[in-house]
Amino acid sequence: MFPAAFDYERAESVGEALDLLEEHGDADVEILAGGHSLVPAMKTEGREPDVVVDLDVPALDAVNALDDRTVVGALTTYATLVDAGAVRSTVPLVAETASEVGDTQIRNRGTIGGNLAAAHPGADLPAAALASDAVVLLRDRDGKREVPVTDFFRGDGETAVERGELLTGVRIPHTDEAGFAYAKKTHPATGYAMVGVAAVVETDGPGGQGSVSRARVAATGAVDRAVRLPAVEESLVDGPLDSAAIDAAASEARVDIDPGRLRSDAYASGEFRGELLETYVARALETAAERVDDDALTA
Ligand SMILES: Cc1cc2nc3c(=O)[nH]c(=O)nc-3n(C[C@H](O)[C@H](O)[C@H](O)COP(=O)(O)OP(=O)(O)OC[C@H]3O[C@@H](n4cnc5c(N)ncnc54)[C@H](O)[C@@H]3O)c2cc1C
Repeated sequence: MFPAAFDYERAESVGEALDLLEEHGDADVEILAGGHSLVPAMKTEGREPDVVVDLDVPALDAVNALDDRTVVGALTTYATLVDAGAVRSTVPLVAETASEVGDTQIRNRGTIGGNLAAAHPGADLPAAALASDAVVLLRDRDGKREVPVTDFFRGDGETAVERGELLTGVRIPHTDEAGFAYAKKTHPATGYAMVGVAAVVETDGPGGQGSVSRARVAATGAVDRAVRLPAVEESLVDGPLDSAAIDAAASEARVDIDPGRLRSDAYASGEFRGELLETYVARALETAAERVDDDALTA
């Protein structure tokens, strides 16, 4: 249960962190954010970095709500995402999803940057980020880089973050008057999502009437990374947002995800995860449909 020896470095600014990443460019370096993935990995999963760079950067623990987008700093904790009025009122799907992460202890320490960078296949926030069309903000010594979250996740623990890069934040566009929801089947032992589905749906009529003009639906837990479900989304567009359409859309999840790709472990076979996926797509869409244009939820 004790981690192997490592060099500890502490950064108090983004510049210091980038200097340390450059200085240790040839070493195996990990960033310490909330530590809720890294520390267990070092204690029990054989992760043995040479250097750990502890991010103690207040500037990255910030929420900046602008007219059409909200920028969330990488060190923003789940607890802040849940409680901050600026998050709840502008990107409520992110607040709702963060409230589903682990338990109070984890929500008090774990960060949005660490959650996305760790890219656990059952992590919650990747689904919300995908359904929100978020953009991941990266920096290295040469400058800044923006990666649409649709291009960010590459596999279990694999992302677009390159050696020497720091994830500094996430930019989340606002989707006014859209219905949203995160529906999750919680893993009984870990709290991660066995399957979690995030949905954002817009209609062209008031109060959820009219046709669906835009739908974004993303799943976590089902395969080795969080993914958008384009066949589900396409099935909804230009039709009514009623229960028949939702059931039809949910069944399209099987088109989006080949059964052979479904994760299988001691808790759930791939086949069961496929059933969960369809059920939780429907649940997320039902809740999103109830919330379209419901100002009370975002006030
Ligand atoms: C018991 C338990 C239950 C959990 N349940 C859930 C759950 O229900 N849902 C869920 O989504 N998660 C869950 N988690 C994971 C938790 O949310 C972690 O906090 C999260 O995965 C990682 O965030 P962190 O801030 O703790 O990152 P750390 O553990 O500090 O870092 C994780 C990884 O990300 C890298 N990293 C961190 N920050 C940056 C950055 N700014 N730039 C570049 N790389 C960076 C690190 O190098 C490391 O590889 C659980 C964890 C535990 C221990």
